[in-house]
Amino acid sequence: MLYKSTRDSSIKLTSKQAIAKGISDEGGLFVPYSFPTYSYENLNEMKSLDYINRAKIILKDFLTDFSEDELMNCLAKAYVGDKFDLGNQAPFVQQSVDKNVYILELWHGPTCAFKDMALQILPHLLSKSFCEVYKNKEVIVLVATSGDTGKAALEGFKNLGGTRVIVFYPENGVSPIQKIQMNTQTGNNVLVCGVKGNFDDTQSAIKNIFTSVEIKHLLKKNNMVFSSANSINLGRLLPQIVYYFSVYCDLISTGKISFAGEKVNIVVPTGNFGNILAAFYAKKMGLPINKLICASNSNNVIDDFIKTGKYNKNRHFYKSMSPSMDILVSSNLERLLYHLSGDNDKKISRWMEQLEMYGEYQIDGLTKSRIQSIFFSDYCNEEETRENIRTMFNTEHYLCDPHTAVAVGVYKKYTLKTKDKDTPTIIVSTASPYKFSESVLSSILDTSYSFNNQFEILQILSKVSGTKIPKQIENLKNKDIVFNNICNKDSILDVILKYLNLNIKER
Ligand SMILES: *Cc1c(COP(=O)(O)O)cnc(C)c1O
Repeated sequence: MLYKSTRDSSIKLTSKQAIAKGISDEGGLFVPYSFPTYSYENLNEMKSLDYINRAKIILKDFLTDFSEDELMNCLAKAYVGDKFDLGNQAPFVQQSVDKNVYILELWHGPTCAFKDMALQILPHLLSKSFCEVYKNKEVIVLVATSGDTGKAALEGFKNLGGTRVIVFYPENGVSPIQKIQMNTQTGNNVLVCGVKGNFDDTQSAIKNIFTSVEIKHLLKKNNMVFSSANSINLGRLLPQIVYYFSVYCDLISTGKISFAGEKVNIVVPTGNFGNILAAFYAKKMGLPINKLICASNSNNVIDDFIKTGKYNKNRHFYKSMSPSMDILVSSNLERLLYHLSGDNDKKISRWMEQLEMYGEYQIDGLTKSRIQSIFFSDYCNEEETRENIRTMFNTEHYLCDPHTAVAVGVYKKYTLKTKDKDTPTIIVSTASPYKFSESVLSSILDTSYSFNNQFEILQILSKVSGTKIPKQIENLKNKDIVFNNICNKDSILDVILKYLNLNIKER
């Protein structure tokens, strides 16, 4: 399988080259030349396998330049052992009231967010790719995070030889638990730093550093190279396809859906459009999906886009209780547009240029109608999100985090608008409620509690809800704070160069 760029269809790279590069030189994202497809018979065969072997079937068709040994080695390191607190890495939970609705909990990994599903394997895919592409260079992984990616990348890359990982997060844009998770990170190759600004400020500063020829040159002289663990990397996107196939197989084998081929809806709480894009890929590959339901929070730029065909990031940026979706530029949307505009690299380049220059672009009618035939979209504001957490808890005894609650709410809007209540539906649950314990607790309580620190909130939430605090979060209270760095968005580069011991005057 070869890969081309959304802004240059003539590019031909192997998967290792595309994974090692992360982003194409002209700014485009890598996409496969074609998609493997699986028949209903294949799905039936897959259902008796465990997660790793399901992953192997799908990933070997994309990562054709990895040997079978290499791939199995990556999969075993990522998904085997005590890393995920459940035997099956992507369990679903059936809801009591609504018979047709299943919650796919993707947050049983080391950092309690769905990003572990991809970021546990990405470092291994990357290090095998680097070996071949960059030989003996030291790889500097730069991450801008809205909270979950940072911690998941730190856990994935810590102590991995030949790499260093540097994480920047918006100082006031992540939850207190997320901040503690990152600032207690151990490992001999990690740096964490808060930024005065929001996620988009942080992300665009990092993007500029990434694409600066001058800085690239400075690194090269010092035998280093930048890489990205953000969700634009193919090595993160492809592993996310697996759990959609896997949950479907689980639904067949437990008799929740009656035959391979029965269609399901998938609801995804969306930020950078990576998770739902993986579901779209699964659909292209033959997974029987009825509607892909895209759920946004108050930062509803994608919702407006799907409804109108106009992307406009010139708007107020809300700091919501679902911070991992507080995003105004959804990078992976570019891939969707490429596929649905008939692989039109010229169009994509133009739209992305307009986004860069004016903060907006308008797509053509045909591409828009294709999007609308595949996706349903809506959003939940803060009040609705709180209400969803409360009703899910009161009526279904299910404690959901604010991101998942946005998806729950948008699914409700979908059933009201379309009257489709019969199609079995998978709601993707992306984080443990304990990562956002304060928002969750205040949503389910009538009275307000006072507390002295984050760990008290965890205790109260556990007591009130009758659920257990995940070990990964409970253990944080015994850990030392390692980092307390804060910088301006203009000094991100200085922080990086200082950590890498590079002298800016050398430039
Ligand atoms: C990252 C994240 C999302 C958004 O996923 P995208 O792939 O960026 O759309 C949603 N919920 C949680 C908890 C996340 O960490």
